[in-house]
Amino acid sequence: MNTNVVGRFAPSPSGYMHMGNLLAMLLAWLDCRSQGGKLIFRMEDLDPARSKQVYIDALGEDLRWLGLDWDEGWPDPVYAQSKRTEIYEEIFRELQRRDLVYPCWCSRAERLAAASAPHPGEKEHDSGCRCAHLRASERLALEVSGRKPAWKLRCPDREITVLDGHYGLVVQNPARDVGDFIIRRADGVFAYQLAVSVDDMQMGVTRVVRGRDLLNSTPRQKWLIEMLGGTAPTYCHAPLLTDGSGKLSKRLGSLSTQVLRREMTAEALVGRLALLCGLAESEVPISPQELIPGFSWEKIKKEDIVIAPDV
Ligand code: GLU
Repeated sequence: MNTNVVGRFAPSPSGYMHMGNLLAMLLAWLDCRSQGGKLIFRMEDLDPARSKQVYIDALGEDLRWLGLDWDEGWPDPVYAQSKRTEIYEEIFRELQRRDLVYPCWCSRAERLAAASAPHPGEKEHDSGCRCAHLRASERLALEVSGRKPAWKLRCPDREITVLDGHYGLVVQNPARDVGDFIIRRADGVFAYQLAVSVDDMQMGVTRVVRGRDLLNSTPRQKWLIEMLGGTAPTYCHAPLLTDGSGKLSKRLGSLSTQVLRREMTAEALVGRLALLCGLAESEVPISPQELIPGFSWEKIKKEDIVIAPDV
């Protein structure tokens, strides 16, 4: 095994996976295995209200069914984000010591959303928030009110560049383009951006392959990892599957793994995914292993892939 290459699956158990999730997992597997790398399966069950045991069980079963294996990870609890709170806590204290975080008392909804990865089109820039600039008396009044704040990370006001392995150069000034972001919700739950960065860093991940909807989060994650003294992985984003009106949702029943597994074989599904993303020229049943010799990011489409929900 080439231990210089470490990839990961990092699904969230907030629903059954759909074809778009499976495409991202297949590409993560191919990217890593075609280089002889090690693959980690991390369970991103940060949000206690949205993570369900049935989905946790289904994620592992669905990946195995599709023919995607991994070397370390779930069900070992060390790889479940819900069990890694102490690690995040320690990093959070370090950021506090470095005066990089501040309490935010703004709207509840935004604080609650932060445990999940951002969805396309979701408003992230909370430009109305004044919490970074409160006068001492205002802050004291909020502190004594007993209401618990969320915690935001101060963003750098400079350009961060990332060379994505598939989409090329991404340039973002986090302070201007996304604003300070929540790393801990008011209820104590750590946010997606903090957990994913810390985990990728501490697990020694060198290759992150995931849906293009997270491209916008990448400069922040790279910056956070480097600020914590780590080396950021190489990011390769994958095109999304859409129904023509936006990214597929886990609620879209007919493309959920539960339905797909009843209707087709794993090899038929891998063959369809390979055709859809550009790896194959025709739809022929095939195993992930058989796709390795012909795998190359150059073949993968860049534009999103429109798929009718009854396909
Ligand atoms: N857990 C996230 C999701 O399922 C993906 C995180 C990542 O790949 O960075 O949306």
